[in-house]
Order: sequence, then structure tokens, then C-alpha cells
Amino acid sequence: MNQKPLEKEKILATLAKFKDEDLKYSNGNILASMCTDANPLAKEAFCNFLDANLGDPGLFKGTQALEEKVIKDIASLLSLDKPFGNIVTGGTEANLMAMRAIRNLARNEKNIGVIDNSSEFIIPEVIVPRSAHFSFEKAADMLNLKLVVADLDENYRVDTESVRENINDNTIAILGIAGTTELGVIDPIEKLSKIATENNLYLHVDAAFGGFIIPFLKDIGYDLPSFDFSIKGVSSITIDPHKMGLAPIPSGCILFREKKFLDVCAVEAPYLTTKKQSTIVGTRLGAPAAATWAVMQYMGREGYQKSAKDCMETTEFLADELKKEGFELVVKPELNIVGFNHPKIPTEDLAKILEEKGWMVSVSTYPKAIRIVLMGHIKQTHLIDFLNSIKEIKSSLNIK
Ligand code: PLP
Repeated sequence: MNQKPLEKEKILATLAKFKDEDLKYSNGNILASMCTDANPLAKEAFCNFLDANLGDPGLFKGTQALEEKVIKDIASLLSLDKPFGNIVTGGTEANLMAMRAIRNLARNEKNIGVIDNSSEFIIPEVIVPRSAHFSFEKAADMLNLKLVVADLDENYRVDTESVRENINDNTIAILGIAGTTELGVIDPIEKLSKIATENNLYLHVDAAFGGFIIPFLKDIGYDLPSFDFSIKGVSSITIDPHKMGLAPIPSGCILFREKKFLDVCAVEAPYLTTKKQSTIVGTRLGAPAAATWAVMQYMGREGYQKSAKDCMETTEFLADELKKEGFELVVKPELNIVGFNHPKIPTEDLAKILEEKGWMVSVSTYPKAIRIVLMGHIKQTHLIDFLNSIKEIKSSLNIK
């Protein structure tokens, strides 16, 4: 650390140099991110609430009211009138909060995972699709849960028979995903709900990605399945404003159907203005709540419908053009993610060459495929350039 204070201009100039090394969404070469440039008004709102601490809400009553308002707005998007939940840092924290609540409830309600000396300790089990985001591995590690992996069907959605087969006396919950990380497919939540209800299990839905696009695509006529609280067995949903919601990072959201999910996580917070705290984070930034509220007001349902439609149009354009070039799609895109392979080019090699040409794609794990997430910053002109690179690669490899 420098001994003497530095001038503001010097500090800002150094920061600008570091920032120059970052890629920019607007350049159109970030092809595999689930985040994008946040809405400008949301950024402004974010900056205005940088000092608000939701961990001590008695001091920041206005920000607390905003959090309650935005939770209600997001919940109404997901068919829930009386929500309980929080604005958090993202999908990982939301999933962690859901797993913590479910684990604690299972201790009380099912006597699973209870730590006492009299009986053998039973590790609670959660059935997750093979496509689950790695945040569940972190949650399992922190909460001492066992993840039991259910197979996927031929469309890479969870196979509900596999879920049924994996249920045993130690199972406490099932996970369904509305918009998988790798392919953007939507698990059959209605069927999972039936299984959960029949077996007295919690059903958590990870809609970190899909939550801010599926409802709007349904509005404008896309035939997509239900995934939200209108399905009776769904007990909690993760939905990320900082993905398709156009809020700045870090903006996530966890919603619970009942208050008991928060109550069972509450600990005493003696020196604060509220006496109990259920969130994982203590000192908690108010800015994401303000920014999410602002961007939702600004976009309105119509604004999100348009941005969802635009993303699907670029997705369909890319998918069609890739097929014309002899590529095979892993699945027909349900949301704005395309997974593809070429029968004659090893996937990892193709990813490497694309990266050398400046295209930041990623490679999915199951199945192995090039994965492109068509966020709003990717325009058709960028895709035309990308497809030209693809054509060059094919011709350099002598592939017709
Ligand atoms: N859940 C899903 C389905 C995701 O796709 C992701 C991230 O891509 C997460 C959870 C984790 O979200 P975050 O990176 O915001 O913690």
C-alpha cells in the first residue's frame, strides 16, 4: 500500500487501464455468458443505493421496503401472491438458501439429518438432475447433504422415472431446472411436482436463467411448459435478475411459498435493528434490490417480452445457419441457448480455434458440445461475423 495518498486522476487512470483488459459485451464476442450489459437505469439505481445495508434493515427502511416490493413483483411473475424471500447475490446463493431451508425443515418435520447421540446420523439426500448447476455441489458440501443424480431423457430433461427410482427414506427434496445452464431446456416440473407431493418431498425449481425469460415467451405465444408456483408441489424458486432480468451483478432472488422456510433458517442477530436474520450474508448490499426494482419498472412486461423475442430470433437465426453449414444441434433450442457439434471436427478443437479467432464460446459437459448463450448483446451482425469464422475454419480443414 502506498504511504501517501494518491491523486484521484492517477487512480482513475490506473483503473481504466485494468478495465481496458476486460472484454466488452458490446463487442459481441462474448458468446457463452448468462450475464449481459445491465440496463443503464438499473446501474444508476444501483449506484444510488451503494451504502444501504439490508443486513440492518431498521436503518434502511426505504431500501427494505424496496426489497419487499421487488420480491412481490418477481413473485407475481411466478404466480405467487404472498411470497417470502430475499434479493441475494445470484443463483448460487439462492440455491444455497433453498437447500439450507429444506435441510432444516427436514430435521424438524422428518427427523432426517438430526444430530443427536442416540441414533445413527442420516445424511439427507436431494435428487438433482444430471444437468444441475455446480452450485448444488457447493450447497451439498456446506450443508452436509448427499446429491443423488437422476438421469436425463433423450432431450436432456430430467427423466422422471429415474427420479422416482432414486427416492428412499432419506430423500428430502427434488430439484427441477427451468432453463438448464448448458442447454436451456426446461424439466417437466408438473411431473416432478406430482412425484414430490406423492412422496412428501420438497420441490425446488432452479429458474436462475429461465425465470426472467420463460414467462415473457409464454406471453407472446411460445409453447413452453409451466414451471412456477402455479404448480402446487413447488416450494421454492431461484430466479436471477442479473441474467435475463438485465439487472447489474450481483442480483439474485430466492422465493419461498411459505414463511416457515425463512423461519427455520433464522438466527439471533443481537446487535442489529432486527433481532433475527435468515439470509446467509450478514451485511447485505441494498443496491441489487433497488436496481432490480428500477429495471422491472422501466422494462415493464412489454419490454421483457421484446427482449425475450429478440434473443429467440437471434437463437433461431444461429441454429438455422449452423444446420446449413452441416452442424448438428444437440436439441432444438427451447430458450436462447444453442448447443452444437460438427461430425468431422472434434468439439474441443473447434472451441480452441474459435477462441483463437476471438470468439468466447464454452464447451458443455453433457453432452460435449459448443455452447452459445444468445444474450441481448449478441446481434445478428455479430453472428454473421461468427458464421464467417465458422466457414473459414471449415475451409481450412477441407470440410465442405
Ligand atoms: N443455476 C443455474 C441454472 C445457472 O445457470 C447458474 C449460473 O449460470 C446458477 C444457478 C448460478 O448462478 P450465479 O453464477 O449467479 O451464482
